[in-house]
Amino acid sequence: MTTRATKRGAERTSLDGTEVDVLICGASFAGLAVARELARGAARSDPNAGSSRSELPTDGEAVRELPTDGEAVRELPTDGEAVRVLVLDRYEIGERATSACAVPTPWLEAMGATRAARQELPDMTFATPHGRVRCRLPWSWTAFDYAELCRALWAQAGAARFETAKVEGRDGGSGGGDAAIAVRTDRGTVRARLVVDALGWRRVLSQPHYQPPDAPLSRGLEVHPQRAAPGEEVTGALDVWVEREVVRRGYAWRVPAGGEARIGVGSYDPRRHVKAPTVALAERLQAEPVRFQGNWFPHRLRPATEDGVFFVGDSAGHCFPLSGEGIRTAFYFGIACGRELCGVLDGERPRDAALARYHAFSAAHAHAFAVAGRVQRLVPALPPRLLTALLRLLARGPLVDRAFGWYLDQAHPRFATSRPA
Ligand SMILES: Cc1cc2nc3c(=O)[nH]c(=O)nc-3n(C[C@H](O)[C@H](O)[C@H](O)COP(=O)(O)OP(=O)(O)OC[C@H]3O[C@@H](n4cnc5c(N)ncnc54)[C@H](O)[C@@H]3O)c2cc1C
Repeated sequence: MTTRATKRGAERTSLDGTEVDVLICGASFAGLAVARELARGAARSDPNAGSSRSELPTDGEAVRELPTDGEAVRELPTDGEAVRVLVLDRYEIGERATSACAVPTPWLEAMGATRAARQELPDMTFATPHGRVRCRLPWSWTAFDYAELCRALWAQAGAARFETAKVEGRDGGSGGGDAAIAVRTDRGTVRARLVVDALGWRRVLSQPHYQPPDAPLSRGLEVHPQRAAPGEEVTGALDVWVEREVVRRGYAWRVPAGGEARIGVGSYDPRRHVKAPTVALAERLQAEPVRFQGNWFPHRLRPATEDGVFFVGDSAGHCFPLSGEGIRTAFYFGIACGRELCGVLDGERPRDAALARYHAFSAAHAHAFAVAGRVQRLVPALPPRLLTALLRLLARGPLVDRAFGWYLDQAHPRFATSRPA
């Protein structure tokens, strides 16, 4: 069971009237990637911090402890002015995971967060009622610990300040130009020139929000049994089941993660409940259906900006259709967003230009998301025997390399270590 660490009562002083330069709403994969990139941007333009990204701290080296309170600020070296970065989330950083937490290994390395790794998974298996294939991928997955990953990212986020607060929405429009945007929280209204919505699938800073079941959302639920059941095969693979008896449109998974397994079911149809099939799958795998966690996740790309606000991760629909993989894309687009914010803070371009550039960058990936969306619709419609035959074809070496190589290319880890344009 999740332990609540979030501040309550007297600890929650008012934030009303707070004005910062950058307000990042959401402190999960997307929000922390933006905060980390802001700190790296500052270090890049600081002649005393070394000009190469490889000289910046990686792997969550103890830059500082989590969480920070008070008026911590980060110095922007260009003119010596302090840039105030505030990150808000309703929970403490790393407190509440909602994911199987598997990511391509090279992304964990690129984000300097390998200390969060729990198990590397070089293979995938795909099972249908008619057979099972095993593929060696051209790259591996790594299952990681959510809290540890968040700590590793936050440790690289410079002097950004963190507060727990529930974000409720916008107060008024952007006002155009570089005017401050007001964001309403349960601790008062906060203003910032640069505002990021990294709040997940609901897209809180948009109006109207996304609301299931009438929205392009999938739903997922998983259990986390602590140990493999006696006699359970330790596969070293991320296992996927595509079986209509389990879920009509969707798939089920098992992600081994060191001492625990993450066993779950995802439905592309938000109206289908996934608790019963999740419990049934766990029992079939002789695992205890304990420690439930679940969430909605988008399966359609959304506009990455709206009325002056940058949207990153699930709030921008950056989760891939078909696979429901949204962590690496939250990193990828979070880095892109962070770089645009740095451009504004460094005086290279006004906010509107940064919004337009980030919007175009995200939209340039529409084709890949559309392809994945089409396959998401196609797979449940295929006769299961045909699907099994296609999976057998895929499992033969060169096709796996091409398919998974293309897939990784759509949000490649080299982006994290490349120099910004
Ligand atoms: C069961 C399940 C398993 C999954 N497994 C994987 C996987 O193995 N690999 C993968 O790549 N993807 C996986 N996904 C998808 C992945 O979890 C998401 O795409 C990813 O979490 C998106 O990251 P994000 O930072 O955009 O949003 P989130 O991770 O949803 O983070 C949003 C943050 O905003 C905060 N927040 C939300 N609303 C408010 C508010 N009003 N006020 C303040 N704070 C708020 C939340 O507390 C949270 O910290 C899975 C999804 C599910 C449901």
